Amino acid sequence: MHGRGLSRRAALSLATLLASGASVEARSQFAPWVESGFASAEARRLTERDLYPKGRPSLPFSLDATVAFDQRTPWSRARAIRQLRKTALIFEACGVAIRDVTLVRLALPPRDRRIDTALTDPVTGVPPTVARLAAQLPTDAAYPVAFLIGRVAGTASLAVSYRPRLASETTAPYFNTAWISYQSHWLPRRDESYSPLAHELAHLLCRCGHSETAQRHLLHSARNFLSSAVLPDDCKRIQDSPLLSVND
Ligand SMILES: [Zn+2]
Repeated sequence: MHGRGLSRRAALSLATLLASGASVEARSQFAPWVESGFASAEARRLTERDLYPKGRPSLPFSLDATVAFDQRTPWSRARAIRQLRKTALIFEACGVAIRDVTLVRLALPPRDRRIDTALTDPVTGVPPTVARLAAQLPTDAAYPVAFLIGRVAGTASLAVSYRPRLASETTAPYFNTAWISYQSHWLPRRDESYSPLAHELAHLLCRCGHSETAQRHLLHSARNFLSSAVLPDDCKRIQDSPLLSVND
């Protein structure tokens, strides 16, 4: 029901756009992502209403991001927006509002619908598929970039993210990217407000891994202890992220 409402709205906007002679600004919201290496990509800037149906809260930090989903998997625009709304609520507790998100629909070739984390480049430790797809992003894409894909294979993980570990490693296009399988989305959870997208973005923002505590939280090391709560220390690290902008 969610998806139908959204796609109807999108169809209506397109019809309005065509009828009105399409202003340059409006056209760019639906234009193919021409500067990218993805021939099939179609990018759209999400509205405040897409992310915050009740209005965006006024918070000290803002995050811009790019979310790309593979339309040849069960991921859809509506499911991506649902993950983003959950992420917005989770990050709100750390004083972070999601500001501009470009949502990109892609049609990846079969070989790119699956990331094998066991097959990595011996020097960088990054799977070749991750490096290749990230290299196709347009140079002006907002980071972090999340790819919602078919499968993540090779380890027990259902999602994975890549962040710079040394100060010198800040330029590769695959840094600050997250790769989230569809399985991680439908896996039943105790906490319905948990989001694998928020989990991976939290890794990138806090530049930290998992921790094991008595209580459930967003970056817990045990999968069945994952929840939407963020530990105060993780919130502090997130607020220090160079990926955030500080609001006046
Ligand atoms: Zn994790």
